[in-house]
Amino acid sequence: MDKKKLQEIQKHLPDHVTLIAVSKTHTKEEIDEAYACGCRVFGENKVQELKEKYDDRYQWHMIGHLQRNKVKDVVPLADMIQSLDSLRLAEEIEKQCAKIDKIMPVLIEVNISREANKTGVYMEECPAFVKQCMQYKHLDVQGLMCVGPLDADRDRIEECFERMNILFHKLQSEYGSEQIRYLSMGMSDDYPIALKHGSNMIRLGTVIFGKRNYSI
Ligand SMILES: *Cc1c(COP(=O)(O)O)cnc(C)c1O
Repeated sequence: MDKKKLQEIQKHLPDHVTLIAVSKTHTKEEIDEAYACGCRVFGENKVQELKEKYDDRYQWHMIGHLQRNKVKDVVPLADMIQSLDSLRLAEEIEKQCAKIDKIMPVLIEVNISREANKTGVYMEECPAFVKQCMQYKHLDVQGLMCVGPLDADRDRIEECFERMNILFHKLQSEYGSEQIRYLSMGMSDDYPIALKHGSNMIRLGTVIFGKRNYSI
């Protein structure tokens, strides 16, 4: 873990921005170390990993594509699901949360760059999708999430993040800024650009924990 780098990021982060330490592929020891340095929320993208590392002293956000058959395992553990991308998934989260009497904070994942290999709803589908999700009693729609365009130049990244920002404000004016409060965008390579375009939740893995080793 890069303590110095983390402290530097924390020092410059505005108060209203939440830092998610993306701990996927990293060990519980590394997570404990990041917690000791002030990280409070951790992001995982695999249900199995979340189960293995779960610690009820910390907050956990599911940030990866979620299969419906895994929802029942995630729902008791997660403090937020940031990757809500289909109505069928929303239905399943509703069903499993109802069983344990839990209201799940969710973010709608938007495929802002329209990349075919990415999950998320398209921008133009988003307002109708939010409206549908709002009808589920055990879902609390709190905002939007996106992954910036990969291998893109700075102009393209700026353009995508600005479109997210506009969409976010549009939803805020419709549902209120107490309801729609999180715009989760920005990762290790692009978080300064995301912050410039209204992000208030950044998800950082590599800059905090170093490179991921997927072969383990
Ligand atoms: C892995 C991941 C991150 C963190 O990526 P880094 O580039 O390592 O900061 C953020 N968001 C999502 C959805 C991810 O899957």
